[in-house]
Amino acid sequence: MSMPLYQLRDVIQEYGGREVLCVPELDLPVGRITGLAGPNGSGKSTLMRLLAFLEIPLRGVVRFAGNGNAGSDCGVRREVSLLTQEPYLLKRSVAANVAYGLKVRGHGPSKERVGHVLEMVGLDPKLFMHRAWYELSGGEAQRVALAARLVLQPKVLLLDEPTASLDEVSVERIHHAAMAAREQWGTTLVVVSHDMGWLRNMCDEIIHLRGGRIQQPS
Ligand code: ADP
Ligand code: MG
Repeated sequence: MSMPLYQLRDVIQEYGGREVLCVPELDLPVGRITGLAGPNGSGKSTLMRLLAFLEIPLRGVVRFAGNGNAGSDCGVRREVSLLTQEPYLLKRSVAANVAYGLKVRGHGPSKERVGHVLEMVGLDPKLFMHRAWYELSGGEAQRVALAARLVLQPKVLLLDEPTASLDEVSVERIHHAAMAAREQWGTTLVVVSHDMGWLRNMCDEIIHLRGGRIQQPS
């Protein structure tokens, strides 16, 4: 078997002197879709921020593709994209939002790529490309935010409660887009949700967190 994409070893994170996460060992293979479940405050978002290299752990190491301390490497951070429950959209059109990441990375005209990822999240480019940010439902806004990440073809996509309070169609479309990303680009995914049925449908494995620790399957 090939080397895991992520290797966490003896990871501990504390906030204000209180331990909120303790992961002695966790490997995530390339292309796997991992679900992350657990009660509020169990450390799911903390783990996601560590995987996104937005934080570094107090102790231990998060290796990415074999590199320790990958978080200090800006190239690595660009391979990983995090989507949260409350997406942030620019006060611009849908097309401008989705193309933004391409633009800052210096890519040329992107209409085709933008259209492709809008289709991936189930938004008809003809109808949505030129909509303004305020002309979207909550579910559509979340799908635009996802499209803005998909357009970068990330190696890793981290979805932290992406479907909380969304309509059924949007929830289904987000599932569909996640599968398509893995199919097309081999994207590795970690998905947090309280919807166990939805997680089981999509994930190869589900990890349960409680009190900052991974529960062993019983
Ligand atoms: P979950 O996503 O599973 O609800 P979190 O990872 O957000 O859990 O939080 C884990 C614990 O860490 C909680 O007790 C939370 O209150 C605490 N926590 C999270 N972020 C911070 C922070 N920036 N400062 C202090 N405590 C925090
Ligand atoms: Mg959370």
